[in-house]
Amino acid sequence: MHEWALAESIIMAAVEEAQKEKLKTITQVTVHIGELQQIEKEIFLFALNELSKSQKPPIKKDAFLLKTEKSTLTCKNCGETWKYSDMKKKLNETETESIHFIPEVVFVHMRCPRCGSPDFEITKGRGVVLSSIKGVR
Ligand SMILES: [Zn+2]
Repeated sequence: MHEWALAESIIMAAVEEAQKEKLKTITQVTVHIGELQQIEKEIFLFALNELSKSQKPPIKKDAFLLKTEKSTLTCKNCGETWKYSDMKKKLNETETESIHFIPEVVFVHMRCPRCGSPDFEITKGRGVVLSSIKGVR
């Protein structure tokens, strides 16, 4: 059910931003979702649309635009950075599936392509971020 909590924080941020910019109506809300964020997009979108009702300023119906942000990993040992999508090809379906549900599993299935270290971090493409809003003043 964390989709609802995430949706709520996005709505709150969008409304706060709209109030700051003195918008009368919010017409578009762009949200970036990290590739390594565990989320059910359909539930998330449903939650966004439900929670957007009766907000001030009002949020237009179907205002939400969800975009996937590619994940980048950085090796703590040698500093190499690489994209999750490049490494994904080497994984089988069960592995990618388990990473989708528990992003931490990525550390079990991946190694740094340069030095082979399992000590790396997700530096980009994690979490859900409100990237921009559009509206009418
Ligand atoms: Zn490395």
